[in-house]
Amino acid sequence: MSRSAIVWFRRDLRLFDLPTLLSAADDADSAVALFVLDDALLGPSGGPRQRFLFECLRALDDDLGGRLLVVHGDPVEAVPAVVAEFGGASVHVSADHGPYGARRDEAVAGALGAVPLIRSGSPYAVSPGRVVKSDGTPYRVFTPFRRAWLDHGWRAPADTGAGTVEWIDPARSALRVPIPSADDPTGPPLPPAGESAALRRWQEFRDDDLAGYADDRDRPDLDATSRLSPYLKFGCIHPRTVLRDLAGRSDDAAATLRSELAWRDFYADVLHHRPDTARGNYNHRFDDLEHDTGADADRAFEAWAQGRTGFPIVDAGMRQLLAEGWMHNRVRMIVASFLTKDLHVPWWRGARHFMQRLVDGDLASNQHGWQWTAGCGTDAAPYFRVFNPTAQGEKFDPTGEYVRRWVPELRGVAGKRVHSLPDGPPPGYPEPIVDHAHERRVALDRYRRIG
Ligand code: FAD
Repeated sequence: MSRSAIVWFRRDLRLFDLPTLLSAADDADSAVALFVLDDALLGPSGGPRQRFLFECLRALDDDLGGRLLVVHGDPVEAVPAVVAEFGGASVHVSADHGPYGARRDEAVAGALGAVPLIRSGSPYAVSPGRVVKSDGTPYRVFTPFRRAWLDHGWRAPADTGAGTVEWIDPARSALRVPIPSADDPTGPPLPPAGESAALRRWQEFRDDDLAGYADDRDRPDLDATSRLSPYLKFGCIHPRTVLRDLAGRSDDAAATLRSELAWRDFYADVLHHRPDTARGNYNHRFDDLEHDTGADADRAFEAWAQGRTGFPIVDAGMRQLLAEGWMHNRVRMIVASFLTKDLHVPWWRGARHFMQRLVDGDLASNQHGWQWTAGCGTDAAPYFRVFNPTAQGEKFDPTGEYVRRWVPELRGVAGKRVHSLPDGPPPGYPEPIVDHAHERRVALDRYRRIG
């Protein structure tokens, strides 16, 4: 009698380099390709990321010849229901190390009873928990982590594709729901979705722009980064595929990109060991830091969120986020510093806003990017380093092009003067909502008080 399995897709919406497919093919003659629309994850996602997910599901369904079974519900009930419907002998997944995913998978494994939940691979080059210090404890500082991560190394991409598994036609399933529509005329335009688009994006970047990456990656005006983050978020491409193409290269561009992927793995590792840092400070000393609350803080937060602070580089970044669902890394640091150190709003409010707006919103990279900037994370920027938004703008957007692209009211201001606005704000653009020099002193004072 033929034996069937379930391949449960989550953050691995691709068919090439997917170890799960090898494990399913080893174990069964055919498999159901399953995705569960889980409200616990969809709820906090925000519109842009949800829409990108739905488009990625549509692309995966096309790549599977229309054989993706999408169901809606709590995976603890939905996955066993699919197993019962199709008589699956095993369920195959990429491991999830996030706080919710790890808990969910334990619960699903329990609910499956005698049917095993088999984990192969993860969304990371090196799975969280693998790279540890010689005494077995996790790294708290990035540079030694990266050294150990490079020494540990990673596997070659798995040789898989649509034909690795014989896919069962799910048409008869009573559980099947349509993939939700991604249409939203008011939302930001999305990057092309799915595995082919991800591979194309990587190949274009590798062939056309990688050479300048080390020099230009901090320049938001040049758009010189890979823009792979939404694809890495949903596993349309695995970092191994990128790292394979960088193998043997020791030039600055390759080393810098490898290092950025190491940051991604580092933050996933940190969150794996400290799931409490999804909501709370990594460094508990910061639990006593004084924040601004109340109506004034809410108004300041709203001005920041809408890109109406009167600080051009901050406003350009926040408007890029609203318009594209993405923001350049340097500008993410500048706007996060501004919210936490100039407006004294706690990092988690900004992190939540980012998670609702970013197409690439990823709990580990986002919460720890915020904590790094706020000073309370691992290996964080020292608390006394308070970014001056005007100086940051002049340094990293030296012609002012980035600001003029995103802030139409400032298009008439030439050159880098667009950052300092020496003649005052033009009509329609706000005065600065705070005095940076004063707020810097307030922040330093509050930081000093927590020791
Ligand atoms: P590239 O420069 O081309 O880098 C390639 C890949 O390396 C990225 O796609 C990403 O996967 C990884 N990477 C690069 N920089 C970092 C970094 N500092 N930390 C972790 N991984 C990195 N990244 C997210 O993917 N999701 C988030 O929700 C997120 N939130 C952030 C919030 C703040 C406050 C900060 C400071 C950073 C955040 N980052 C986040 C990290 C970084 O800004 C983005 O990964 C990067 O801008 C994505 O653009 P790219 O793909 O063109 O990057």
